[in-house]
Amino acid sequence: MSLRSQAPTRYRPDLRTNIDRYHSRLVWLSMLIDAHAHLDKYEEELRQALEEIERHQIFTIAVAMDLPSYQRNLEIGQMCDLVLPTFGVHPKRAPEYTDRLSELGPWIERSPAIGEIGLDFQWVEDSSQYPAQKKVLEYFLAAAREQKKIVNLHTKGAEKEILDLLQRYDIKRPIIHWYSGPLDTFRALINYGACFTVGVEVLFSKHIQAIARELPAAQLLTETDNPGGLKWLNGTVGMPQVLEQVIQAIGDLKETGPEVVARTVEENFFRLIRDDPQLSGIRMKLRAVD
Ligand SMILES: [Zn+2]
Repeated sequence: MSLRSQAPTRYRPDLRTNIDRYHSRLVWLSMLIDAHAHLDKYEEELRQALEEIERHQIFTIAVAMDLPSYQRNLEIGQMCDLVLPTFGVHPKRAPEYTDRLSELGPWIERSPAIGEIGLDFQWVEDSSQYPAQKKVLEYFLAAAREQKKIVNLHTKGAEKEILDLLQRYDIKRPIIHWYSGPLDTFRALINYGACFTVGVEVLFSKHIQAIARELPAAQLLTETDNPGGLKWLNGTVGMPQVLEQVIQAIGDLKETGPEVVARTVEENFFRLIRDDPQLSGIRMKLRAVD
């Protein structure tokens, strides 16, 4: 698979960026947006995570891996107004659901947006699973088109395939999560009009920094992929306020400063949900903060 060769490698500990250089010293005037986090994966840190979400005013999309994970995120959504649980089946879980697609229908229907869904031809090396990934993804994309929903997409090693599917299913509001693939497909996805969540790897990787720099401001969103994103990068459990370091880093790369980034992301998110009847409650919450 040729795309695999362009995937970023894991970072050795000695290549770590000094994450402590950025600390939360800013008073944020905007609602911060974490458009991709796995809150159900927190264990004893959940309470602290929700406190940080409240204290730093981080509107958080809690994406699901599968049905149990969505159900857990629905419970967490009851604990915090700033958490939006969304249903999806992650490509790694897709093989468990290929024969249960009709069971997913009602959960997709009740979810105000879709995610995490997608393809993974990079970390899932067993290619016999790829047809299952595609089958489940296409089921979700067909529903998203029908129900006019935002989709939160995992694209690892399958960036071009995802672009083709977005075009085929005419998906209007894709959010591309943690894009790390080839630059030509990145540019094609920009032309398609996708939004991109830049996350914690911007603190570590030149490739991600180049992507963040090139991404048009109007298509920029932010994420953490907590708690696992940071864990994968440096072994620590990612907590919500790491988002401020992400925003700071993007502000440095774009030479605008973090406040402009935070404001831009908030505006982009607001524009994304503006005409979505399923997210009108969320609009009210964002306005209440403004
Ligand atoms: Zn994720």
